[in-house]
Order: sequence, then C-alpha cells, then structure tokens
Amino acid sequence: MHFKDFKFSQNLLKLIEKEGYKSVYPIQEKVIPAIMDKRDILGIAKTGSGKTAGFVLPIISNFRKQNPEAKDRNIQILVLVPTRELAIQISDVFHLFKNGSREEIIIKSVYGGVSINPQMKAMHGVDILVATPGRLLDLVQSNALSLSKVKILVLDEADKMLNLGFAEEMNKILSLLPTNRQNLLFSATLSKNIDSISKIFLSDPLVIKINEENEDNTQNIKQYGYFVNEEKKGSLLRYLIKEKNMQRVLIFTSSIYQTNNVTNKLNKNGIQAIAFHSKKSQNARINALKKFKEGEIQALVTTNLLSRGIDIEKLPYVINYELPRSPKDYIHRIGRTGRAESTGEAISLVSPSELAHFKVILKKMNLWVDMIDSDSINLKGY
Ligand code: ADP
Ligand code: MG
Repeated sequence: MHFKDFKFSQNLLKLIEKEGYKSVYPIQEKVIPAIMDKRDILGIAKTGSGKTAGFVLPIISNFRKQNPEAKDRNIQILVLVPTRELAIQISDVFHLFKNGSREEIIIKSVYGGVSINPQMKAMHGVDILVATPGRLLDLVQSNALSLSKVKILVLDEADKMLNLGFAEEMNKILSLLPTNRQNLLFSATLSKNIDSISKIFLSDPLVIKINEENEDNTQNIKQYGYFVNEEKKGSLLRYLIKEKNMQRVLIFTSSIYQTNNVTNKLNKNGIQAIAFHSKKSQNARINALKKFKEGEIQALVTTNLLSRGIDIEKLPYVINYELPRSPKDYIHRIGRTGRAESTGEAISLVSPSELAHFKVILKKMNLWVDMIDSDSINLKGY
C-alpha cells in the first residue's frame, strides 16, 4: 500500500516522500483511515513500527482551524506523553508534516524542568499541544490555556499514561476535557487494566493489535545475554564496547547512582559517555540526547527514563547493564534499537542474583534469549 491511497493533500504526500517513507507500515494502514473517519482507536503495535506517523499524518490531514473567536487559548488537539524528551520528539514529527495542511497549524510542546513563563506566553493561538501531564496542569491552573475545546486526545505510551503513576494527574486532565471528543490510544505493550479502562474511555473504538502475543514482536532485534558476576560487569561492558567496536550504544542501569558510576568508569577508560537521568537539568538532558544522536559521544547511560518512545536513528546496540524490574520495560528498552526496518542487538548482563528475575521477564514476554558464559572471556586490561 502507498500513502497516495489515502486522501492526503499533494503537499502532505511530498513531505512524506521527503522523509523517505516508501510504503505504509501495517499499523498505519489500519489506523490512518479510521482516524480520518474520526473514530476512536486503541492501537497496539511493536516498538519502532511507526505509530507516531500513524496519528500525526491523519491529524494534520483532518485539521481545520476553529473560528477565530473560539481559538485564543483553546487547544484543539492534545497529545499526552510520559517524558519530556518524548514530548519534544513528537512535536518535531508534527512540525515535519505540518505544511501538509492548507491551514497554518501552530504546534508546541510543554514539559517540566524548565521555566514555565515562556511556555505560558507561548500558548496563545496554539492548535496542537504535546505535553507531559504535570506541566499541562500547571499551565491550565495559571489560565495559560484551556482544554474545554479539545477535539482530539492522543495518549502515546497509553499503558504508561493510564498507569497508577499518572492516575491523579490524568483524572484531573480528563475532567477538564469535553466528553465529546476523539480518543487515540497507542502503545507497544498492553497493561491488564488498559483493556478495561479503554472500554470506559473509548466509544466504539477500532482496536488494532499487530504482532501480539505469540507472534515475534522483536524479530529485528538480536537478543542475547551474558552470565556475569556483579563485580565483573564493568569490565565486561568495556570489553563488549571495544571488542564489538560499538560506535553508538545505549546503556540502561537500575538507578541514578549506577548511571553516574558506569558513565565515570567508561570515561576513565577512554569511552566517551554521558549520564542521562532525572536529576540532570533539562538543558543537560537535551544536550546529551542531541550529542548522542549526532554521534558526538559513543555511549549514553540512562535509567528507564529513556526506555519509552525515544527514536534514535541508527542505534545498533542496547545494553542492559542491569535488568529492569518490569518485563514490559525490558521490551521498551530493547525496542530503542531495531526500529523501522533496521536491525539491532540487545545485550543483557545478568548476574547470579538477577537470573531468576531474568527468567521471569523472558517467560512473561514469551522470549528466548541465548546466554553466553563470561567466565571464558579474558577481561584482563578492560
Ligand atoms: P513507534 O512509536 O511505533 O515506536 P515511531 O513512530 O517512533 O515508532 O517510528 C519509528 C521510526 O520509523 C521513525 O524514525 C519514523 O520516522 C520511521 N517511520 C515511520 N513510518 C515510516 C514509513 N512508513 N516508512 C519508513 N519509515 C517510517
Ligand atoms: Mg512511539
């Protein structure tokens, strides 16, 4: 199927071509016409399968300005995401395609960790807002914007957004939205409660689940693990980076402390690395991700903070220095590689105390991972 088969404007088609999108991905084929028909959607498809363009393109294509007096600080389209970086990334995708509309669409992203004043001033006339929940509520409370005219609500990483961690903020936000609206929920993983919540939340939704359950969700990603004692993880990590000549690798740890620790040791050993976690300033976070995407640093070391949604082109390696607690987070972490049609490797360093937990992750996610014993590797000098 080709994008020309949708009722898109010539301008939008040109922008899609410029992005190098040749064929329509399966999730896009299903959701784009349904979103254009103003239906509610629950879209589940694996990491890196093009869910973002799946909602951005039809939203741009359907977009019509509100009558001028209604506009002012009324957002028409609200996209909610769990992290600041994802808010920026999704608003970038809207910007890529916005000139595919005849209307002049104003798109902004808002998130915490930076001063609120410039964001307040920038809300005038905004049509599409991509936001993290906390900052959105702060802006509503200071009357910088109103949600009473929202026509479309998008929840990206929907299972996370409907998780307990966001429940209080989400309830507040939902109470501020008009009941008559289009709802679009997207995720790579389903939580137990999303099915039941979405029944209340969505009206006559189109439910699309691609590559679920027994189908192989991670076929682009070669997964394997190393049995390794805790105290040898550092040298094994450096061995792997050097031996496999990894030019770009995303490393996940279980805490901010470990993130800093692993980063320092990499740098001491001549591997350029930056730590990325929630205690860094937002500017430092933005800079670190930029440097990593542009290939200025070799390794980005992080927590689960970067596990969801972040799209890094040509990222061939993900390493779990430590395992995530939740099996779903394992899927999201490794899904930072092997995106779109590319391939990647996801390597987990598993200590004896983590082994039982690793088995739980694999069983729950229906995965099989080759394990290598690191005892036979000579780590001297690493
Ligand atoms: P998901 O949200 O499903 O994890 P993304 O929306 O972030 O995935 O898309 C992953 C990558 O695929 C992005 O770099 C995006 O530009 C690219 N992409 C999306 N749709 C297409 C397409 N039809 N053809 C080629 N690349 C695409
Ligand atoms: Mg996504």
